[in-house]
Amino acid sequence: MKKYTHAWLAFMAIKRLDLYPFPENTSLQRKIKTDAAALVRWFKSYRDFVIDGSWYPDLVFKDMLTSHIIKYYHDENSNDLSFKKLPSTIIMYNNRKESPRYGMPFTIEEGNLADRCEAISHDIVDCLKMLRTEDRGCPISPTNNHIAMRFFILSHYIADCHMPLHCDRRPFSSGKRLHADIEELWDDEVSASYKIDKDNNRFFYDPDGYPLHVKPTPLITRVEEEIVSRKYIHDWGSGNNNTWDYMSAISQYSYLKAFLMIPEQYDESLTKKKFLEEVEGKERFQQHSYEIFTDAVESISHIWLRVWMRYRDWQRDCKMIKEIE
Ligand SMILES: [Zn+2]
Repeated sequence: MKKYTHAWLAFMAIKRLDLYPFPENTSLQRKIKTDAAALVRWFKSYRDFVIDGSWYPDLVFKDMLTSHIIKYYHDENSNDLSFKKLPSTIIMYNNRKESPRYGMPFTIEEGNLADRCEAISHDIVDCLKMLRTEDRGCPISPTNNHIAMRFFILSHYIADCHMPLHCDRRPFSSGKRLHADIEELWDDEVSASYKIDKDNNRFFYDPDGYPLHVKPTPLITRVEEEIVSRKYIHDWGSGNNNTWDYMSAISQYSYLKAFLMIPEQYDESLTKKKFLEEVEGKERFQQHSYEIFTDAVESISHIWLRVWMRYRDWQRDCKMIKEIE
């Protein structure tokens, strides 16, 4: 994905945590709601760095060939059929059986995206604990700015995993470069929908502090409606216990989705025109884009909140904040 798409997805994750009507029936539900509200408040002080932070992996780290991907391929010699579970709110998981690759043995050729996400998740919690432990101004203490950047960087890797061509080893990044063309189309949707302060590399904001609408496209409008209403399930999926497990599962269903978007008979000579007009069709492409974006927002908001809650639990253990009643 490209620069403005990444930043927008990160913003939409916070918008979801802000506007979703979390229930308050149990003590866990009340804790989730309270912690989500605290994360939203904290985030809003650092929102000007979202575009910089969420673009850092592509612009500076340049670890695209290792950490932005998990590349699968169909392999009859593999015994690996272990498709993982995910919460029922992930659309690409619900649609898995439509993919011709579902239930077929696979091998992972390369990529450590899930490891990267797990490592950054730990790093954020560690940094938050150090920040609260050390005296203000202590030279070894991380800063809130730095930690916010880590959140935005994490969102980049999570989002990339939802782009099916990051999880499918077919070479659509070469040849007619369909991978880049699709991401360009998505960035055009975002750029056309919001007012962007390009001089300062940030969005202009609406009165609630979210990217200011210019004239949102139908796709963007649909995504914005869905992300504040989709049911929030505080669950990694049965058998999954952490960011790594969850992101591994996401990569599997992203791989399956690649074959729903581009059937196996096509190769890297497929052009954008043919993809949009014959293979996928504009309507189906809109639907797939909607599913990819809303699932990505769901995953970013879920993992961010999990990370933040681990830190808040530590604060509760240290009596830095009051127990939730
Ligand atoms: Zn990337």
